Amino acid sequence: MKYNVAVIGAGIAGQQAAVDIANQGYKVVLIEKEVSIGGKMITLSKVFPTMDCCSCIATPKMSEAAKHPDIDLFTFTVVNKIEELKPGFTIKATKKAKFVIEKDCIGCNRCADVCPIDYPDEIWEHGLGVKKAIQVPFDNAMPQCAVLDPDYCTFCGACAKVCPTDCIDYTQEDEEIVLEADSIVLTTGYEHTPIENKKEYHGEEYKNVLSGLQMERLLAPHGPYGHVLRPTDGKEPWSVAYVQCAGSRDESVGVPYCSRVCCMYAVKQTMLLAGKLPLADVTVFYMDIRAFGKGYEEFYQEAKIMGINFIKAKVAKIKELPNGNLMVRYEKMEEGGGVDEMEMEMVVLSLGMMPGTEVNRMLDIDVDEYGFVETPKANIDPTVTSMEGVYVAGAASNPKDIVDAIAEASATAMKVGLYLSSLYTKGHATEAKVKEEI
Ligand SMILES: Cc1cc2nc3c(=O)[nH]c(=O)nc-3n(C[C@H](O)[C@H](O)[C@H](O)COP(=O)(O)OP(=O)(O)OC[C@H]3O[C@@H](n4cnc5c(N)ncnc54)[C@H](O)[C@@H]3O)c2cc1C
Repeated sequence: MKYNVAVIGAGIAGQQAAVDIANQGYKVVLIEKEVSIGGKMITLSKVFPTMDCCSCIATPKMSEAAKHPDIDLFTFTVVNKIEELKPGFTIKATKKAKFVIEKDCIGCNRCADVCPIDYPDEIWEHGLGVKKAIQVPFDNAMPQCAVLDPDYCTFCGACAKVCPTDCIDYTQEDEEIVLEADSIVLTTGYEHTPIENKKEYHGEEYKNVLSGLQMERLLAPHGPYGHVLRPTDGKEPWSVAYVQCAGSRDESVGVPYCSRVCCMYAVKQTMLLAGKLPLADVTVFYMDIRAFGKGYEEFYQEAKIMGINFIKAKVAKIKELPNGNLMVRYEKMEEGGGVDEMEMEMVVLSLGMMPGTEVNRMLDIDVDEYGFVETPKANIDPTVTSMEGVYVAGAASNPKDIVDAIAEASATAMKVGLYLSSLYTKGHATEAKVKEEI
């Protein structure tokens, strides 16, 4: 399978890059390790600073990328090794078994209706919701194809009996695939800094201490509980605290850099909470508020006007009380300093961003000391990597918000177009084989 470009990672940056490259007439393969494209953006509630519904703005882009005639989409596909052909690359990957014949599945989800097994959904609901052993991953997943999890399935056969297209195949196996591409775009994104990094906040232990992404799910209209409720007892919280820089700007957890989005997503979430829980007290413990983008400072000021309580302080520790409430102990950084405590019903840790994948394991490319893709000419050519023909966009090179990820993806698409035209002018053969077929 030969392509002009392989885009690895189908979050918002990967989708944008793939569509912009395909619209220049090139044949693109878009590779995603999860069962649906969408990345973190499709799991968010609303986006700062416009407060657009995330699903509403992300789904059309997902659909465009998945249905583009010049983009071949491989989901649930793990890249194992990329070899340089100079020019071009060979990509060896494993297309994992979904136990469903993708081209025949119509996404009706009747299999999920009869499946007797429920288990925690760690990917799309961040452990707060449940899923069936076979189901379409979520309502607006792309592709709309059911996936069976063999670790939980009892192979009772109920799903196969009701499937109207006979597309469930319990014998399906992983498939090794080899792809060739003249250029590669890395859009592998980010992961939250691990919640267990800050031992003193007990995020992995206390269920009412949530990550930023978990709170996104509680706030989302199609979230796991349909409302903001405490995971321990289903109670509406009367007080919610945000702990800023809970995984960034902190040498002790190996993340000294600023993750750039945490201030703004915390401000956004507090405003959404004020709407969902009008009587709740919402407090943000922060060191600095970094509201650097267009309209961001005004957004922050609006939150203050809405009554969100901002306290300049460093949270020292969190202790769970017998009723599930949380005692937050903090050191004030103004008003003469000093240590104080506040009892809260729920705490959100504003965790930062770390690289989404170890790209240097699959490709012999430079990464920075934290594992983000190195961009040696960051000041004049921010999408160029240390390897000819390989480009990067989005949070794969450093923490970034959606606006910057999209802008960078389009810039990358332009760079890739220029690279390919110079390659083909020099007579490299793939253009004749691939581009003329389009
Ligand atoms: C709690 C929270 C709230 C946020 N709210 C906002 C907001 O309101 N507004 C805003 O502008 N920004 C927000 N952000 C930031 C936003 O999530 C990012 O800017 C955006 O998701 C970056 O997109 P991306 O495509 O670069 O990365 P990602 O969304 O991480 O997508 C990367 C994709 O690559 C895939 N992938 C990774 N490795 C591989 C591999 N080896 N092979 C194949 N596929 C791979 C992943 O599965 C994923 O689908 C928020 C972030 C957090 C943590």
